[in-house]
Amino acid sequence: MRAVVLDENGAPELCDLPDPGGPGVRVRVLGCGLCGSDLEKLGRGGVLGHEVAGVLEDGSRATVMHRVPCGECARCRAGHESTCDAFAEVRIAPGGFAEELRATHVVPLPDAFGELDGVWVEPLACILRAAESVPRGRVLVVGCGAIGQLWVQVLRARGDEVVAVDPRADRLAQARVGDDGASVGAAVVTAHGGVDDALRRLEPGGTLLVFAASDGAVPVALDAVYRNELRVLGSRSATPASFAAAIDLLPELELPPVVTLPLERFAEGVELYRRGEALKVVLTP
Ligand SMILES: [Zn+2]
Ligand SMILES: [Zn+2]
Repeated sequence: MRAVVLDENGAPELCDLPDPGGPGVRVRVLGCGLCGSDLEKLGRGGVLGHEVAGVLEDGSRATVMHRVPCGECARCRAGHESTCDAFAEVRIAPGGFAEELRATHVVPLPDAFGELDGVWVEPLACILRAAESVPRGRVLVVGCGAIGQLWVQVLRARGDEVVAVDPRADRLAQARVGDDGASVGAAVVTAHGGVDDALRRLEPGGTLLVFAASDGAVPVALDAVYRNELRVLGSRSATPASFAAAIDLLPELELPPVVTLPLERFAEGVELYRRGEALKVVLTP
């Protein structure tokens, strides 16, 4: 079975692997989305690929949950499931960029889903969980990549007035969103350029939701946090409940365009994504 996994130096390589065995069921992979968090693992280590559209042995469509909270500990009960100790364990092997994988937690998908639509379930589930922490009203989305574009739609679907910023006009046009420069009650950070501007635009008592990892020090105007009594919070990853919500909402959204490449062209997919030439890369076996 062919799979792209990280070698001992954290470099991705296409290997021929035996059936990974272990717990869980076999999933034949139709496609797997490349996520920003996969790029963070390059040169470091970890399991690549978690945004999976697949088929179970009975022919039914499914996606997988690569991490699962225990649901019972104090952090889970407080709504911080992604910090639960159980959440650290990866539940898929060898990862999503493979012809087949094993997963302990599969989530059935409706037959009506397009063949690769399942790759959007996990990212959308992360957004829906985070959106619960974003007060309704006027919301600024910082960054209009694939994730920012989904955020715009999710917030509009619930009735928010949405404005967005992105250094790239083509992405703002794709998201069909503009910006009047006025103040907002909340801001969602999906990319780190412009965080400080977002903070300064928040109305008193406003919320800044951090939805993207930062690969370096991002300066934050703490004085604005203090004087305007702002709330700064983070949200990372998804829960079983938000997976279910994502599967319900997905058919109503306009999914961003994807560049589909075979596993052999993994490195090219990484470059397209890094250079911003592809909004979303999906690898197919
Ligand atoms: Zn992801
Ligand atoms: Zn827990």
